[in-house]
Amino acid sequence: MTASLAELQALERRYAIGTYARNPVQFVRGAGARLWDEHGDEYLDFLAGISVLNVGHCHPRVVAAVQEQAALLTHVTNLYYTEPAMRLSQALSESSLGGKVFLCNSGAEANEAAIKLARRARPEGDIVVLADAFHGRTYGALSATPQPTKQTPFAPLVPGFVVCDKQPEAIDAAVGEHTAAVLLEPIQGESGVLIVSDEVVRAARAACDRTGAALIFDEVQTGMGRTGSLWAYEQTGVVPDALTAAKGLGGGLPIGALVTGPRLADVLQPGDHGSTFAGGPVACRAALVALELCSDPELLESVGSLGERLAGSLAELPFVAAVRGRGLIVAFDVRDGGAGELRDAPELARRALVEQHLVVNATGPRTIRLEPPLIVSAQQIDDAVARLGRLV
Ligand SMILES: *Cc1c(COP(=O)(O)O)cnc(C)c1O
Repeated sequence: MTASLAELQALERRYAIGTYARNPVQFVRGAGARLWDEHGDEYLDFLAGISVLNVGHCHPRVVAAVQEQAALLTHVTNLYYTEPAMRLSQALSESSLGGKVFLCNSGAEANEAAIKLARRARPEGDIVVLADAFHGRTYGALSATPQPTKQTPFAPLVPGFVVCDKQPEAIDAAVGEHTAAVLLEPIQGESGVLIVSDEVVRAARAACDRTGAALIFDEVQTGMGRTGSLWAYEQTGVVPDALTAAKGLGGGLPIGALVTGPRLADVLQPGDHGSTFAGGPVACRAALVALELCSDPELLESVGSLGERLAGSLAELPFVAAVRGRGLIVAFDVRDGGAGELRDAPELARRALVEQHLVVNATGPRTIRLEPPLIVSAQQIDDAVARLGRLV
């Protein structure tokens, strides 16, 4: 494959449905925290495919597992047994809530499964979601994503979703006998790395305990070691009844999962839900490796200290305000009146990419998000911050 960027842009204009505002760069290779374009120019990747390459690009053990499995068996459907799917279900359960697992292919699908599970447990029940939430783009997940720009063009949405402010009293008032689930992200990554306070998380747990609703954590972005523990819930002091995972789960391959605790393990019954590709052996082999790598206590500890290093040195840049995050999910706002032309976050991200060969992402008009692979080095963190500093 040797197409120029201009050729790809021409193909996109003619043949690709225009749902993405792509940056003017073509990547052809990756290793660890580094990417290369078609000219062989190197980039430092501080987005990791939106928290997908937590183990780094093309981790040799992921590559080996995928290559081996691709040559053995790629697909048979869930009408039959394959070992990788059962081993991955076991590993996910034992690494978290101890119940059972439904495998799927993406974050949105994992949340769809979670919503169906909650409704099956409490028929006709409402799903309570938080302001600023992002749970995906399919209709159920979109209906759980209270953002007018994403929802309004696609009305009518699925009924039965209740939006709640991120206040303990608001959660208490919204959750009742009619509530099937409270679905929340411990850290709202897509909305700009907004940390949901422990107080709110505890209020959600208490409200669910009081009413029998299911507390479901969307850990699609926060899971797989991103915050410095394998799952973000471990640092909240609250254990949910179920969690959803995707993004980093497959070490770069598409896969998602709903993981329950014991109470909800047997709610869904044969015929209730399914997916042709779900639990495919290639993706599951990759996920088994990624899950093992991301569970390494030494790696998880380094995520905490690297995250502090990143947040600390970002805060010293003249145009940076409101640095926040946990572990290696970090964001900042571009400071008001700070650096003239740098005030626009999408423009800052574009210049970082093109001028400094640093991959970062704007989650909104003022906010830059950084999510490097968890295997990033301290030196690469210093290098990334220095590259940002050279933009002024
Ligand atoms: C990315 C994301 C999703 C959607 O995942 P897809 O794989 O894009 O469908 C859902 N929830 C959260 C918290 C996410 O970050």
